[in-house]
Amino acid sequence: MANHTQVAVIGGGLVGKATAVAAANAGFSTLHVAPDAPVDRRTSALMGPSVDYMIDAGLIDDPETLGTPLTRIRIIDATGRPLRAPETVFSASEIGHRAFGWNFANARLGESFSQAAAGNENLDRRAATLKSASRVDGVWHLELGDGGTLTAELLVGADGKGSSVRKAAGISMRERKFDQAALVCDLELERGLDGESVEFHYPNGPFTLVPAGGNRANLVWIDRLETLEDARREPEHLISLLNAKSGHLFGTISAASPSFVFPLSLLSVDVAGRDAAVLVGESAHAFPPIGAQGLNLGLRDVANLNACLKAANPGSYGWADAVARSYGGARRGDLTRTGAFVGGLFTSLLSPHLPAQALRSVGLWGLKTIPLLRKQAISFGMGQ
Ligand SMILES: Cc1cc2nc3c(=O)[nH]c(=O)nc-3n(C[C@H](O)[C@H](O)[C@H](O)COP(=O)(O)OP(=O)(O)OC[C@H]3O[C@@H](n4cnc5c(N)ncnc54)[C@H](O)[C@@H]3O)c2cc1C
Repeated sequence: MANHTQVAVIGGGLVGKATAVAAANAGFSTLHVAPDAPVDRRTSALMGPSVDYMIDAGLIDDPETLGTPLTRIRIIDATGRPLRAPETVFSASEIGHRAFGWNFANARLGESFSQAAAGNENLDRRAATLKSASRVDGVWHLELGDGGTLTAELLVGADGKGSSVRKAAGISMRERKFDQAALVCDLELERGLDGESVEFHYPNGPFTLVPAGGNRANLVWIDRLETLEDARREPEHLISLLNAKSGHLFGTISAASPSFVFPLSLLSVDVAGRDAAVLVGESAHAFPPIGAQGLNLGLRDVANLNACLKAANPGSYGWADAVARSYGGARRGDLTRTGAFVGGLFTSLLSPHLPAQALRSVGLWGLKTIPLLRKQAISFGMGQ
């Protein structure tokens, strides 16, 4: 391995893999510092623009072979509150599309991204963690967990919520940790979802069934951590809860995988790039998984960074500072808007206060009945 690289990408999640491929394809010598990690058991609903980016960047071929199309989204207010929202259905055909996007298993996406990286002569991978990073005389000096050292011109943090790159670059963040967590597992339904994602809104968070092909569904259940831990202690207890929470709408439900629980928080940064360091994915933003925004936003980070790298002149003095500056400026609006949208949606859903509940109900009435508002909401949800 060379001990100097133009771009070092830290973190081997989906966003890190996509970034490493983008930097290498843009012609930069790239080192991907990606420790071996447990299989990512999450699934991701990715909207049309994200899927288009993955195809254009060579990360996936045909989404049909890898994922399941999402044709409708149904929201059911199951809060039992006096001010309830109406049941609302969004259909991709309203905007002239066959599907809003596709639902993918993160593990399958990861394999496809790794295949896209294989054989790229600009790209090396090191299965190590980043131990420390400091910038001396305009160059990043990196120390790795396996004892290796190297220098890099541009440092990319794709190292998740606890990002070491963010700390090394001195970028400040705010994080609000929730009492809620998300339980995920695969389910087999007696009656399949037929392309429809169904979100039941409960007072402690949504309970969402996402189509995963045939009668298979991916469950994302948000509730208080202790409720979820208690629910999954006994498999039979979990199944009877899932049947009840899905309103018995899909016949008998059975588990098709073990369940996994993820803690939830709302994380934002002051700026996503400066001093020749940039942050992509959850190192820069994290939300509860409602409205399917997290990885979609992460892939928009990668697309933006890709554009900044393609516009850069790597022979010029200070090119990496310029990339970080332009990336930081380009990402500001999207990160602020998306963070405010998802944070607002989540807190209004959980809020015990009548004004917030009223606002949410009125909002959903508006989305149900006002075509222009529906179109705008759909465009926003799709990241357009
Ligand atoms: C239950 C759930 C459901 C979701 N559903 C959706 C959805 O439907 N649609 C959507 O768009 N988003 C969804 N998301 C969000 C999405 O999963 C995340 O936004 C995305 O996976 C984050 O990817 P990442 O690569 O930024 O971070 P991560 O996947 O957290 O990867 C970070 C990587 O950095 C590595 N790392 C950490 N520290 C170091 C270090 N010091 N050195 C080297 N490597 C390091 C870690 O090992 C890890 O591999 C969901 C999230 C959850 C929790």
